[in-house]
Amino acid sequence: MSTEKTDAIVLRVIDFSETSCVVTLFTRDFGKISALAKGARRPKGPFEAALDLLAVCRIVFIHKSTDALDLLTEAKLSRRFRSASKDLSRLYAAYYVSELLKELTEEADPQHDLYDVAEAAIRALDSGAAPARQVLRFEMATLRILGHMPQCNVCVECGKDVFAEAENNGGEKKRIAFGQVAGGVLCKRCRIGQRKVVLVTPNVVKSMRVFADAESDQWRDLNTDSQTMGELRGVLNYYFAALLGRRPRMQPYLNALYTAHG
Ligand SMILES: [Zn+2]
Repeated sequence: MSTEKTDAIVLRVIDFSETSCVVTLFTRDFGKISALAKGARRPKGPFEAALDLLAVCRIVFIHKSTDALDLLTEAKLSRRFRSASKDLSRLYAAYYVSELLKELTEEADPQHDLYDVAEAAIRALDSGAAPARQVLRFEMATLRILGHMPQCNVCVECGKDVFAEAENNGGEKKRIAFGQVAGGVLCKRCRIGQRKVVLVTPNVVKSMRVFADAESDQWRDLNTDSQTMGELRGVLNYYFAALLGRRPRMQPYLNALYTAHG
C-alpha cells in the first residue's frame, strides 16, 4: 500500500453507495485506475466538483497492492470540460476520446505519451479547435503509442511500394487497398483473398501518417478536402471496431463532424 500523487482525467463515475462512488481515471503516472471515492456523493464532500466526466484533476490515492480498489483521498480540479453544456458535438467527440482510453488501455499500465495526447485533445475540444481534426490526431497517436499503427508506407504483406503502383494505374484507378484485417495497405497481388479491404485515395493513407507523426505538427494545418476526411473516418471506424471487437458506442456521433468537416 502506498500513497501516490498524479494528474488524472475522469473517465467514468459510478454510484457505489449512498455517499460513495467508484471512479475510473486515466492517470499520467499509473495508467488507468479504478478507485473508491468515499463521500463523493455528499453535497459538500471531500472532492467537491472535481469528479465530473472529462475533468482533469490532481489526485492523491492509496494504491492497494492486492486486487482491492484503490482509494481516492484527494481530487483537486485543474480543469473542467466546460463545453459540455454548450456544444454537443464537442462533448461527444470528447466522450469518444474517453471511451477509447477506457477500452484500449490496461489497468496500472502507465502511458505518459498517451496521457499527454489525450489531455491535449480534451483541452482543444473544449477550447474551440476543429473537432474532426482533434479526434483524428488522438486516434492516430493512440494507435501509434499502443502499437496498433497500421502499415501506411509499403504493402503490409510483401513490402512493395503501393504508392508507385497506384500512380502507374493512372486515372480513376489510382486507389490504394487498405486491409482492415491485414493491418495496412496492400499491393495488387497481396490484396487477393484478403478480407475487409477498402479502396482509398493515396491522400487518405498519407493523411493517416501525418496525423500519427509524433515529430511534427503538420496535422494542424494539413489541407484535407471533405472527401478525404470522409474516407478517413470510414477507414478508422472499421479499424477501431475491429480493434475493440465491437463498434465504439460514441462512433455514430462522430460521423456528423466529418460531413461538416472541421
Ligand atoms: Zn504485397
